[in-house]
Amino acid sequence: MLGGGQLGRMMAIAAAQLGYKMHIYCPEEDNPAEQVSDQATHASYHDPNALERFARAVDVVTYEFENIPVETVNSIAKYTTVFPNAEVLKISQDRLTEKTFVNKLGISTAPFRAVSTAEEATQALKKIAYPAVLKTRRFGYDGKGQTIVRSEAGIQTAWADLESDEIIVEGFVNFDMEISVLVARGQDGVVKCFEPVQNTHKNHILDVSIAPARIDQNLKDLAISTAKRIVENIGYVGVLTVEFFVSADEPKLRVNEIAPRVHNSGHWTIEACPASQFEQHIRAICGLPLGGVDFVGEAQMTNLIGDDILKLPEYLAEEGAHIHHYGKFDIKPGRKMGHVTRINPQRS
Ligand code: AMP
Repeated sequence: MLGGGQLGRMMAIAAAQLGYKMHIYCPEEDNPAEQVSDQATHASYHDPNALERFARAVDVVTYEFENIPVETVNSIAKYTTVFPNAEVLKISQDRLTEKTFVNKLGISTAPFRAVSTAEEATQALKKIAYPAVLKTRRFGYDGKGQTIVRSEAGIQTAWADLESDEIIVEGFVNFDMEISVLVARGQDGVVKCFEPVQNTHKNHILDVSIAPARIDQNLKDLAISTAKRIVENIGYVGVLTVEFFVSADEPKLRVNEIAPRVHNSGHWTIEACPASQFEQHIRAICGLPLGGVDFVGEAQMTNLIGDDILKLPEYLAEEGAHIHHYGKFDIKPGRKMGHVTRINPQRS
């Protein structure tokens, strides 16, 4: 596993349940994944010798975040199998290639244009309309690297804030809801999707996920078939996440982002489904058949961000609350420290 965060931790736990041993590769010595893994290598993602030693020591490599350098994956792939492959990593690391790829499959996104100066942004937005969102093409997450502009007057400030000349401008989508679909594809080409899940954010960070999303069956089917089309088109192996905006008007579904990995909005599958998103990913990369995705009822996952983790005693006292602590001992604002899942809670 390249990366040592909580997603890596939960994949390592799933791998152990299937009888595998996990070897973590990440630069940080203190990391959540290593605490539950068999071995760890601490080295830079740019150290060719360490990467070769690691690659030769394992049977298959995967990653838990999408900002792994593509060259790192390419150099590992010389010695061992890597899933998902470097091609999909490359597509998803740049919002321009990502949205272009999605549009080529006939799938809607917000209207967008790539620009490299504030003047180009101004010209592009004359055609797109306000409000609009300016986003850096690379390395954006949890609302970082993006800013809303409400009129032409706001462009210069927004441009200066982003400190990049690789930007996309995007029309603002008046969505009713944000949902995501977690789709798994095995080496045998079998594809399975979990129920679409509804996501709400606080301070740009995922706060609560509710599964299944409270949308009608037609829309669920459309979201699932769209996610399937994406993984089938690129011969993907593993779990991939597709985030959508849901609107009342056409197009009812627009893809916002794809992530070539397991996702925070899929944590509810640990308790709710026969095989969790983490287990599906491990099954897929190890060439095993995918497990079951069925779930009847409702699951709610709440993130514990920063100081929220201090409320652990309250959650522990709640019967039916499933607690996950990520083993991070430095509490920082905005840091994902754990999560709580409730199955069939009283509807709120
Ligand atoms: P992103 O980093 O692209 O996932 O965006 C983070 C969040 O910003 C999304 O989950 C939305 O809530 C909001 N957002 C991003 N792009 C748009 C858009 N074009 N229209 C409306 N809201 C957006």
